[in-house]
Amino acid sequence: MADSNSVLIIEQNEDDRNNIIEVLSSEYKVIEVSSSINAIDVIEEKLDIITVIILDITDNTFDGYDLLCEMKRRGYLVKIPVIVTSGEGDEELELRALSMGASDFLRKPYNSLIVQKRIGNIMKNRENATMVDHLEKDYLTGVYSEEVFCRRVVQLMEKNPEQSYAIVYSDMENYQLLKDLFGETVSNNILVYMAKVFKHLIDRNEICGRLEGDHFVLFVKYDEGKLQENLESVVKIINEFPVNMNIRLRFGIYEITDRTMPVSAMCNRAMITVNNIKGKYGQCVAFYDNDIWEKQLREQEIIDCMETALREKQFEVYFQPKYDLASEKIAGAEALVRWHHPTKGFMNPGEFIPLFEKNGFITELDKYVWDSTCKYISTWKKNGYPIVPVSVNVSRTDIYNPELVDIILGMIHKYDLLPENIHLEITETAYTDNPQQIIDVVKKLKMIGFVIEMDDFGSGYSSLNMLNELPIDILKLDMGFVQGDFSSNSNNILSFIISLAKWMDYAVVAEGIETEAQIQMLRNMDCNYVQGYYYAKPMPPDEFEAYMLKHNVLLEDPDSFASDLNQMKFQKSQGVMLIVDDLSLNRKILSASFNQYFKIVEKENGAEALDYIKDNYKNIDVIMLDLVMPVMDGFSLMNKLRMDEKYRNIPIIVTSQGGEKSVEKSFALGATDFVEKPYNLRIILHRVQNAVMAFRNAKKIRESVDKKNVLV
Ligand code: C2E
Ligand code: MG
Ligand code: MG
Repeated sequence: MADSNSVLIIEQNEDDRNNIIEVLSSEYKVIEVSSSINAIDVIEEKLDIITVIILDITDNTFDGYDLLCEMKRRGYLVKIPVIVTSGEGDEELELRALSMGASDFLRKPYNSLIVQKRIGNIMKNRENATMVDHLEKDYLTGVYSEEVFCRRVVQLMEKNPEQSYAIVYSDMENYQLLKDLFGETVSNNILVYMAKVFKHLIDRNEICGRLEGDHFVLFVKYDEGKLQENLESVVKIINEFPVNMNIRLRFGIYEITDRTMPVSAMCNRAMITVNNIKGKYGQCVAFYDNDIWEKQLREQEIIDCMETALREKQFEVYFQPKYDLASEKIAGAEALVRWHHPTKGFMNPGEFIPLFEKNGFITELDKYVWDSTCKYISTWKKNGYPIVPVSVNVSRTDIYNPELVDIILGMIHKYDLLPENIHLEITETAYTDNPQQIIDVVKKLKMIGFVIEMDDFGSGYSSLNMLNELPIDILKLDMGFVQGDFSSNSNNILSFIISLAKWMDYAVVAEGIETEAQIQMLRNMDCNYVQGYYYAKPMPPDEFEAYMLKHNVLLEDPDSFASDLNQMKFQKSQGVMLIVDDLSLNRKILSASFNQYFKIVEKENGAEALDYIKDNYKNIDVIMLDLVMPVMDGFSLMNKLRMDEKYRNIPIIVTSQGGEKSVEKSFALGATDFVEKPYNLRIILHRVQNAVMAFRNAKKIRESVDKKNVLV
C-alpha cells in the first residue's frame, strides 16, 4: 500500500467514519479528519500523496462548501477529486456540491461495494488523465509539446473569437554555452525554472509550450504595454536563478492578425522577431511589425539580385587590423566583405550573409572574397609592404563543400602565397552540425599550414567539447563578452574561458573592442590579440595599405614556419622538385610549401615519374616519393633508379605511412630520407634542406674533382 495512494476522509460522525475506514483500509492508506475546518491545512501538507478526498456535507453547516471553495481557489480541486457524502434525501446538497466542483457523491449508510467501485473509478480516471497529460506535455518542464500547443491555440482562438492574441517566442542566446559550462542538470533546471515562471505568468485561456532546446512559446492575450512589462520582469526573474550565470534571454512577439495562418507560421514570425534583436545589447523584447515584414520582402529582393552583383563586382573586401596586446603592434587583419549596391547603397554583411548561408550562395561569394584577399596580399608582397596574416571567414556551408581544400590551395598557388599568409576564421555555428566532417576538413587545412581561428566563440552554439576535438590555433571570442554590461559575472566567464584557452595552448583574440577600459580588462586577463573600432574600423584596401605603412607592424615570429622557409640555406633554384604521389591533396601540400624554392613537377605514379626522370634527370634537385601508388609503386621506382648510374645521386625523400618494414626497405633501395605522413611541414622542410644541400655539395665536389682530373 503506497503512501501516494492515500484517501483523506473528512467526517464528523465517528461511526460513519469508522464504517468507511473499514471498507477502504484494505486497499488504501487512510487519513482521517473529524472536521472540515482544519482540513485545508492537512490537504496542503499532504497534497502530493492524497489521491481522493471523501467529504461529509450532511451536517449542512457550510463548512464543507467553504472547504470546496478554498480548494478551488488554491487550484487543488483540479488535482484531487472530492467525493461528497450525504444522507438520504439530501439531493439538493449533493447537486450543489457537484456544481462547486465535487467529482461524485455517496449516500449513507454506505454500501461497501458501491464505495469501492466509485473510488476505484475515480482513481482510474485520474490515472488516465495523468497519462494523457504526460503524452501532451514536455517531459522536462511540464508545458505543452509543440504539436499540442498548436492544436490548443486553434481551439482557444475558436472559443474566444473576440479576444486578440499574440504568440511570444523565447530565445536564450547563450544556452549552449551555459550547458557546457554548468552541465546538463543545471541547464535543465534553468528550463524547468523558466517553465515555472511562464506558468505563473499566464492566465486562464493562455498557454505555454516548449519547442526544441531553450525555446518556449506562449499564447497570450495581446496587450502591448502589459506584455512588454511582464516579459521584462520575466527576464529579471530568470536572471535571479539561484546560480548567477548571466542568462541572455530575449522575446519576440507576433500579434495574431491573421487567424487562418498555421500556428507554426505564427511561431515562425515570433522567432524571426526575436532573431532580429539577437546580439543587440540591452533590448530583450521585440514586436513583429511592418519593418520586419518589409525586411522579409527586402530579403527576397537581395536574393533576386545577388548573382548580378557578383558578376558586376559590386562586392568589395574591407580590412580591419588586429593588434597584439602586448606590443600594441598590428599582428594581423580580417577580410570583411561589403556590398555597394547601385540602388540600395552600401550594405553590411549582417544584411546578406545570413541569407546567403541559407541559400548556399555564400560559397560563391566566399570564393570571390578569398581570391580578392589573396590578390591584395600578393600585390602588397610584391610592393615590399609589411605583411601580416589576413584572416578570411569560412562559412558552415563552405565546410561541406568537398572542394574546399582544393579551392583554397588553388588560390595560394595562383598568387604565389604561403598558407601562413592566410588564417581561416570558421564560425562557431559551423562546428556543431556534423562534427566529424568539420574535424576532418579542419585537420587537413591545418596540416597544409593554415592557421585556424574559431570565430564568435561563446555565442549561439558554443561547444566546449569541440575545443578538445578540433585542432584549432586561435580562439576568437564573441563580441558579447566585452560589449555586454560589465557585470562581474560575465567577466568571470570571460576570464575562465581565456584561462581555459591558454591552458589548451590557444591564442585568444577579443573582438568588438571600443574602449580603453575593455583593453585594460583584457590585458589583465592576459588576452593575446584585440580587434575593434577602438583601434580601427574595417577599411577599403587602399586605406588599409596606407594605414599599414603608417603604423607599427609586428614582424614575423622568428619561430614560425614561414621564417624557417625564409632562412632556407639555398636560394630559389632552377632545380625541380618532383613530387610523386597518387593523392592530389598530398601533392598540393608539398607544392604549396616548396613552390617558392623549386620548380614543382607533379606525377601521379612511378611509371609517369620514370618517364619524366629519363628526360630531365639533370634538372631534378629532389624527388618526394610516395610508396603506395597504382601502376608503379615507390619501391619499384627506386629499384629502377638504382640500376642506372645517372639517377643514383638524385636525393629521394620517401613520404609514407611509416612502418618499420617500409623504412628499412626504402633505405635499402637508396632513399635519402624518410618522412612519415601526415606531414609535419617543419620536419619535412629540414629533411629537404639537408638532402638538397648534401646533394649540391656532393655535385660541387664531383665537378671540381672532374675539373682537376681534366687539368691533370
Ligand atoms: P565576424 O567575422 O565576427 O566579424 C567581426 C564583425 O565585427 C565585423 O562586422 C566588424 O566590422 C565588426 N566589428 C569590428 N570591430 C567592432 C567594434 O569595435 N564594435 C562593433 N560593434 N563591431 C565591430 P561585419 O563586417 O558587419 O561582419 C559581420 C559578420 O559577417 C562577420 O562577423 C562574419 O561572420 C560575416 N562576414 C563578413 N564578411 C564575410 C565574408 O566575406 N564571408 C563570410 N562567410 N562571412 C563574412
Ligand atoms: Mg570573423
Ligand atoms: Mg567574430
